[in-house]
Amino acid sequence: MAGFVVGAAEAQPVASAVRVEVEGNVTRLIFETSARVEAEAYVLSAPDRVIVDLPEVGFHLPLKAGLAEPGTRGKKPVIASFRFGQFAPGKARIVVDLGRPAIVKATHAVPRIGGFDLIIEMQEADAGAFTAAVKRAAQEAVAREILAEGPKRSARPPSPGLPVIVIDPGHGGIDVGAQAAGNVQEKDIVFDFAKTLRAQLEKTGRYRVVMTRQADVFVPLGERVKTAREVNADLFISIHADILSDPQGVSGATVYTVADKASDREAARLAEKENRADSVAGLEGSDDAGDVSDILFDLTRRETRTWSHAFARTLVNYWGEAGPLNKNPHRSAGFRVLKAPDVPSILLELGYLSSARDTAALTRPEWRGRAAEAMVKAVDAFFSNRSGTSATGKLPGAGSVP
Ligand SMILES: [Zn+2]
Repeated sequence: MAGFVVGAAEAQPVASAVRVEVEGNVTRLIFETSARVEAEAYVLSAPDRVIVDLPEVGFHLPLKAGLAEPGTRGKKPVIASFRFGQFAPGKARIVVDLGRPAIVKATHAVPRIGGFDLIIEMQEADAGAFTAAVKRAAQEAVAREILAEGPKRSARPPSPGLPVIVIDPGHGGIDVGAQAAGNVQEKDIVFDFAKTLRAQLEKTGRYRVVMTRQADVFVPLGERVKTAREVNADLFISIHADILSDPQGVSGATVYTVADKASDREAARLAEKENRADSVAGLEGSDDAGDVSDILFDLTRRETRTWSHAFARTLVNYWGEAGPLNKNPHRSAGFRVLKAPDVPSILLELGYLSSARDTAALTRPEWRGRAAEAMVKAVDAFFSNRSGTSATGKLPGAGSVP
């Protein structure tokens, strides 16, 4: 994580202002930066976006800087909205949601007093030109990937005895997740909770804990699943917080497990939203690795799902000590992050950021401590139930599925 070494901050360019200029059919998105920043920009479709890849940049800008102006009438602007943030170690990204098809004409860094203007120049385009640009960008991306492909990461050694729990704080970096009033962001709330939970689990001395992200960074959904499988996890806990546009007094925690068919409409909506995390950060939503029709795989997956349900039920039982539960506290849907076939996985929505009561609780350290304590009890109960099942505490066949 070279981007986080001490001293790197001095060299990191800072973006301190942003503006949009429209001139005929050309729209320029301009970031004022403290140093020259080289950008690479390209288009993606469905949804139509411009992706701007940058080296590490500190964005000292209001969070709402890129949000759509409310009440814009008439012809939609080229830039409907945009967001910016850290994308990967040492890399930042700007994602522009297009209101109308446009292509990237150029990116420049133009000197000005005190720094540079990073200019992303977009030109309105017809559907044909836009589609051609998307195709070109996709071909270039494949070529880049082939060039960049280094040696494959080797799997970490299996855990020495202790059950391994992977905690997955949702979102991060450019993907902020749900946003509530007063700059409360899901990515921060879930990260704070994950750290508390990790500390409490480690304190017991009974578990080895691995986090899918250690900082405010973007991690694709597939990478999170990969981490769980690489460390041969015994339990995967993804932490999120929900938000409703029409809250109607809905509040409390909900535990989700994966299912091919959603348990209800709300669960389907939520899975759809959480599965969009990659596309929020401008990653193409890659489909899951296809349907594997292998009888051993099916057996393992079924077994895993049984354990996932068992943990979900246990967690619901213990959560009462931490706070209120949703009316319907155990639901299921097709969450991509829960799809490791051999790792029991659940996704916990801590509460609703659209509920003032939930938000107040979720931002309080005392609440975090109490909730993490309840989770540790649930984890203890789960593993004490399981230890009778197999000598190693591992699922039969865990880790042996390709
Ligand atoms: Zn989320």
